[in-house]
Amino acid sequence: MLKYDNDAIIELCSKVDLLEYASQSMDFKQKSDDYFTNCSKHIDKTPSLSISPSKNFFYCFSCGRSGNIINWLMEYEDLTFHQALEKVIKLSGVSDISKLNLKQPDALLLFKKIKKLTEEEYYNKEIIRDILDKSILDEYIIESPQEWIDEGIDPLIMRKYNIRIDYNANRIVYPVYDKNFNLIGVKGRTRYKDYKERNLMKYQNYYKIGTTNFFTGMKENIDVIKKKNEIIIFEGIKSGMKAENWGYDNWVASETSHLNDEQIQILLEMRLKNIIIAYDNDVELQKITENTTMLRKFTNVFVVYDNKGLLGKKADKVSPVDLGKETWEILFNERMKI
Ligand SMILES: [Zn+2]
Repeated sequence: MLKYDNDAIIELCSKVDLLEYASQSMDFKQKSDDYFTNCSKHIDKTPSLSISPSKNFFYCFSCGRSGNIINWLMEYEDLTFHQALEKVIKLSGVSDISKLNLKQPDALLLFKKIKKLTEEEYYNKEIIRDILDKSILDEYIIESPQEWIDEGIDPLIMRKYNIRIDYNANRIVYPVYDKNFNLIGVKGRTRYKDYKERNLMKYQNYYKIGTTNFFTGMKENIDVIKKKNEIIIFEGIKSGMKAENWGYDNWVASETSHLNDEQIQILLEMRLKNIIIAYDNDVELQKITENTTMLRKFTNVFVVYDNKGLLGKKADKVSPVDLGKETWEILFNERMKI
């Protein structure tokens, strides 16, 4: 299986002028800063499809289709993701290094970045531990996504975790720090509800993630975790922030429902009294038990486990915080020691 470096893909997209490209086959009319045309995906009496030249991004006010040049090619030229990517590489001129306006080392670097990574390269820790400059976050707007506010997460809590919006790729993004709290990446979650039909991943990491030797939220919460001598481990940042709404601030997110050796090592080094696993309801208790064998030799491990089915069907993959404070507190108070 081959994976792509998303960082390089975004860099590529920035090299293609979406309006210039689209104007070759469609007529646009300028209205203040944006350019409008009829959206071909539905009946569109007043032109609803806009391109913002400054953002290099399109948005249809009628059907909500939006995105960058790759999304454009997938939507309006019916290309697959890979076909769209190939076309953007051609349009950008990056496939020919000599045509790049970059210094040679930069050009080589970019070229290396866009090449397909093999599975082995992808998981090779040696190539993934770059410490990033904080300024890369400036590409994204500090803004609390409305859909998360609607789910009840306090915008101030979202500020704490530096939640931002990537308007270029229509994603919610947040910084990822290694265990020494160096910035090593930006994690993104698509805002497209139909991301599957669009061939997009739900989560896209603007860094080669390899082994996850960190916990999201540890940088922000390590002091309170140590003070309470207890850690609550959710799968994702959104669950953690919801719990924090209700005063449960000693949380981290493991980013998956399985602790890897590096994460277990981090937990062992913290020598906490209690570790509370609060994964989504689709995770089998037996898996958690097996995964925490080593931890349980040194510390108390509890599982917030929905054995009464309060969260509904397992197939729906519900986090213990998703149904509100009351349900969470029942589940939390009835947590099981394993
Ligand atoms: Zn439309």
